[in-house]
Amino acid sequence: MTELPLLTWILLILSLVVGILAGHFGWGRRWPSLGKLHPDYLVGLDFLVTEQPDRALDMFLKLMDANADTIETHFALGSLYRRRGEVERAIRIHQNLLARPALAREHREQALLALAQDYLRAGLLDRAEGLFQQVSEVPRLRVSALDALRSVYEQQHDWQQALDAYRKLVRVEAAPRRVIAAHYLCELATLAIERGDLRDARRLLREARAEATPFARAALLRAQIAEREAQPELAVRLLRQALTESPQLLQEELPHLLALVGPAAKDGVLGELVARAEAGGPGEMKRLVFAAIGAKVVDAEPLRAPIERVFSQDPTLQAMWQAAPGQYARTAQEIGALLAHAEKYRCSECGFAGRSFYWHCPACHAWDSFEACAIVKLN
Ligand SMILES: [Zn+2]
Repeated sequence: MTELPLLTWILLILSLVVGILAGHFGWGRRWPSLGKLHPDYLVGLDFLVTEQPDRALDMFLKLMDANADTIETHFALGSLYRRRGEVERAIRIHQNLLARPALAREHREQALLALAQDYLRAGLLDRAEGLFQQVSEVPRLRVSALDALRSVYEQQHDWQQALDAYRKLVRVEAAPRRVIAAHYLCELATLAIERGDLRDARRLLREARAEATPFARAALLRAQIAEREAQPELAVRLLRQALTESPQLLQEELPHLLALVGPAAKDGVLGELVARAEAGGPGEMKRLVFAAIGAKVVDAEPLRAPIERVFSQDPTLQAMWQAAPGQYARTAQEIGALLAHAEKYRCSECGFAGRSFYWHCPACHAWDSFEACAIVKLN
């Protein structure tokens, strides 16, 4: 829920009251004295002051009904309630508008869009979908409705419909980032892999790569297919490609990569990862070290020097390190135990944190917003 600062809220309420008054008495006339105000208005204000917002809202809706000039105030108030998470009130306002037989067509369409947004916010996805579909036929509101429909389908995990809505947006030149279409295609490819249709999965991944390159997620899924088709070398190549494109995935995929290459090639692969992390800077090396601790390969020769360096230079870990000098393996194990219970990822958009990696944040529905955060947490 978006909380508005109290002062903003008071100012908005005041501006709405002014709006109601303006609508009620007409702009350009002299301001009425309080003695001439409609008695319902004063009753409504009383309810507002005594913190009975529902009764205040009823009273204002009754007042606003009396005057067609207050349409904009309805929309402003409805949107305000929705933003505050008070969706039931927003719904009442928009339904109240739609119940007016004399409502002009453009206002009716606008009210339908607003009501659909209320339903979306309330999680009533079926109702939202129906209304957005209806409104998407209105050229003026098409882009807003299609974009909202895309969001409804994302939440329903109906990736084909989400992709269709995206492509309709492309046709009106209002599409969001192409990487979002690539994610829809990867979701569809995942479903194809699950049902064993690897040919269709490969086609979908080719389409995903046409939308976004480089695109680590497509490489990861393609690696999965290669593994299923007994092509381990191709799987390793694709996995390494994915890790180069998106080092965030190290924590998740390093154990998988090491299992694929086998014990004989393990040190060689780790050595290459160390060399790449050296070139990427201290943050990159920390990420590799923590992934290695998670993958329980701290004893590997290429990692010993980097681990010692990261431990002895890190402001928090330095203390642990100095408390047990030379106890390299034990300290690494202790950190590993901490990591096992720590939140590993955090959404950079909304702060949602957890131990699993998501391409699509389950809380705020942002794409590609998950970052490895255990490093930050231990700092
Ligand atoms: Zn989020």
